[in-house]
Amino acid sequence: MTMTDYYTLGDPVADTKAPDGPIETRWERRRFGAKLVNPANKRKLTVIVVGTGLAGGSAAATLGELGYQVKSYCYQDSPRRAHSIAAQGGINAAKNYRNDGDSVHRLFYDTVKGGDFRSRESNVHRLAQISVQIIDQCVAQGVPFAREYGGLLDTRSFGGAQVSRTFYARGQTGQQLLLGAYQALERQIAAGTVTMHDRHEMLELIIVDGRARGIVVRDLVTGEISTEFADAVVLASGGYGNVFFLSTNAKGCNVTASWRAHRKGALFANPCYTQIHPTCIPVSGDHQSKLTLMSESLRNDGRVWVPKAKGDNRVPADIPEDERDYYLERIYPAFGNLVPRDIASRAAKNVCDEGRGVGPGGLGVYLDFAAAIGRLGRDAVEAKYGNLFEMYERITGEDPYSTPMRIYPAVHYTMGGLWVDYDLQSTIPGLFVIGEANFSDHGANRLGASALMQGLADGYFVLPNTIGDYLAAGPFPKLDGENAEVAEARKLVEDRIEKLLSINGDRTVDSFHRELGRIMWEYCGMERTDAGLRKAITEIRELKAEFWQRAKVPGDGEGLNQSLERAGRVADFFELAELMCIDALHREESCGGHFRAESQTEEGEADRDDERFSYVAAWEFGGDLPVLHKEDLTFDYVHPSQRSYK
Ligand SMILES: Cc1cc2nc3c(=O)[nH]c(=O)nc-3n(C[C@H](O)[C@H](O)[C@H](O)COP(=O)(O)OP(=O)(O)OC[C@H]3O[C@@H](n4cnc5c(N)ncnc54)[C@H](O)[C@@H]3O)c2cc1C
Repeated sequence: MTMTDYYTLGDPVADTKAPDGPIETRWERRRFGAKLVNPANKRKLTVIVVGTGLAGGSAAATLGELGYQVKSYCYQDSPRRAHSIAAQGGINAAKNYRNDGDSVHRLFYDTVKGGDFRSRESNVHRLAQISVQIIDQCVAQGVPFAREYGGLLDTRSFGGAQVSRTFYARGQTGQQLLLGAYQALERQIAAGTVTMHDRHEMLELIIVDGRARGIVVRDLVTGEISTEFADAVVLASGGYGNVFFLSTNAKGCNVTASWRAHRKGALFANPCYTQIHPTCIPVSGDHQSKLTLMSESLRNDGRVWVPKAKGDNRVPADIPEDERDYYLERIYPAFGNLVPRDIASRAAKNVCDEGRGVGPGGLGVYLDFAAAIGRLGRDAVEAKYGNLFEMYERITGEDPYSTPMRIYPAVHYTMGGLWVDYDLQSTIPGLFVIGEANFSDHGANRLGASALMQGLADGYFVLPNTIGDYLAAGPFPKLDGENAEVAEARKLVEDRIEKLLSINGDRTVDSFHRELGRIMWEYCGMERTDAGLRKAITEIRELKAEFWQRAKVPGDGEGLNQSLERAGRVADFFELAELMCIDALHREESCGGHFRAESQTEEGEADRDDERFSYVAAWEFGGDLPVLHKEDLTFDYVHPSQRSYK
């Protein structure tokens, strides 16, 4: 099949909202140029926010505080259980408390370079500027960031940076930040500006007269389907790493909210950009449904190594220093163990492919703290990473204080997501997308500790300033269930549930999901090839057809039915998986987390093709034949170069 059998080419897409001129003042000028809504009018405007993670929680709280009427949704039993709570290592900010040469410009530079020159300069610069405000906001909320002896907030280093700019609260940074956002949200709930709908899942977007005007939701406890209206809709529904079945994401993470919006016209950008995190606990068998991350912060003090000799299966303590290969320190002396994730993951895969991997199946490398314990003492190491060590020991039964951890790369984060402009508005007017659900700031590879920064920048600072520009034209006409577009959206949901329940096949939804994940990992994981991706697309299509013939969804739609919930999510994962493979197939270059075996340098590094691929690939839904819209990327401040961490 030729490329055109997989997709067609549409018109280019452009971000028209970011001002030109000096990058340092673009955000200030956009804020000044954006229309304002006066306080009395804000009360007349309703905003739906889907998601209560760091992005959605902070956005709903801030919009409520501004005076809008906010309706907030999540599928968990409490907004506080959003997946953001799992974030461990920290959050970046260009505060330069350490006086180690950091600055807004350096964070901007590191992020554009770390993303392998596949993100927008305007967005990334704004993110770096706002990073400093986030820390102040969170400290004011009482987030217990770690402090050093003098009382200043402490920092540590994360991959892809030579400065120490990552703020943290032990290994529970996401949890502490989410509690901050959650208390702000609860305050608005108590004040009556936010109404909270937990255990509700958005299953469709309502578009009326070309504007996003609401959502169709299912009450996960009673099964009741309802239509909810607003003047604007914000999706903060997180990432889609679970398309791989096994990932470090919470089991519930899914793509349904974004995918439903995509099917209704929102472009989906760079779906193939997936982050494989280098330090996860290796897969231990077929029984697993989830993988566990060992935070990147551990690479501050942990040294990564494998035996020099192939097939050396002595216990680590019996392998003398000179028979160990600290391969990251050897290959990348400038960044050592703190190279970015895409680089560290591929290096781990390479040494394992050479037959030097450790542990069952040879799919593991060591992360060793012996040197740090020797240098700092066990107590100091425990103070920094105690809960992570405990988690590792509980899962593996091994004590990482006395023997090195075994780690291997695993799917962790998705840089792709719904396309948004500088205002974070999608291609559907009135539909805004924030946090991991959008594609905006990380290019082809996200730097560690930058997701929390982006989610909170979007929610506390960007969206609350830009959404007013859209809402100033509201309130829009009142809606009810009689409206044809509303009734049609509702019927789509009812028909789909009916269809899923009526398949009545003989194979569990989970078994389909697991098989889909295997195909994705094999052909669209750490290394991708033309032939492999074509094979994956064929296999996914066959499996999807089988799903609609053989899936067994027990129970009914009248009450709590987790099989039904999962079935709907897996059905959407099938369609997304196809698009991811088509995106990966069309991008005949390597960049960041997207490594095409055909496109590598002599040293095995990613070989970008800026001539042909310096663009965002924004896909329009087209069933088996999606439409590609390109957004050209220009670089005026950070000149694209071969990324080097040597
Ligand atoms: C184990 C782990 C550790 C991490 N550590 C770090 C770290 O140290 N630093 C860092 O910067 N990043 C880290 N990350 C990444 C970071 O945690 C996430 O990118 C970020 O928290 C995503 O936040 P979010 O608000 O966009 O989405 P989420 O926190 O995933 O929230 C999604 C919300 O959307 C809701 N939702 C989704 N779909 C629907 C629907 N259809 N209907 C209703 N509600 C819906 C959910 O209920 C939830 O409330 C880590 C990720 C993992 C997996």
